[in-house]
Amino acid sequence: MKVPKIIRTFCPKCKTHTEFTVAFYKAGKRRGARKGERDQAQRKQGYGGQKFPMQHNQAKVTKKTTLLLQCKECKHSLMREGLRLKKAELE
Ligand SMILES: [Zn+2]
Repeated sequence: MKVPKIIRTFCPKCKTHTEFTVAFYKAGKRRGARKGERDQAQRKQGYGGQKFPMQHNQAKVTKKTTLLLQCKECKHSLMREGLRLKKAELE
């Protein structure tokens, strides 16, 4: 699906409709020295291993694509609910 590069929608900061630039949300890079990563590494040590169930048989074939919108006037960012798309591109 083609997603427009500019969307006109309500900005809660400007309290009116403004133009927003559109990008796809990407999760941040995993950093090994962070608390959660260190804790998980500690938990997985030794006999026993994985401490919570991991899902292996996925029912869905696509992942949700979250849109990241940024107001052109006040630079306020907001996210749009994820869409299940096999292929998403900005037009
Ligand atoms: Zn705004």
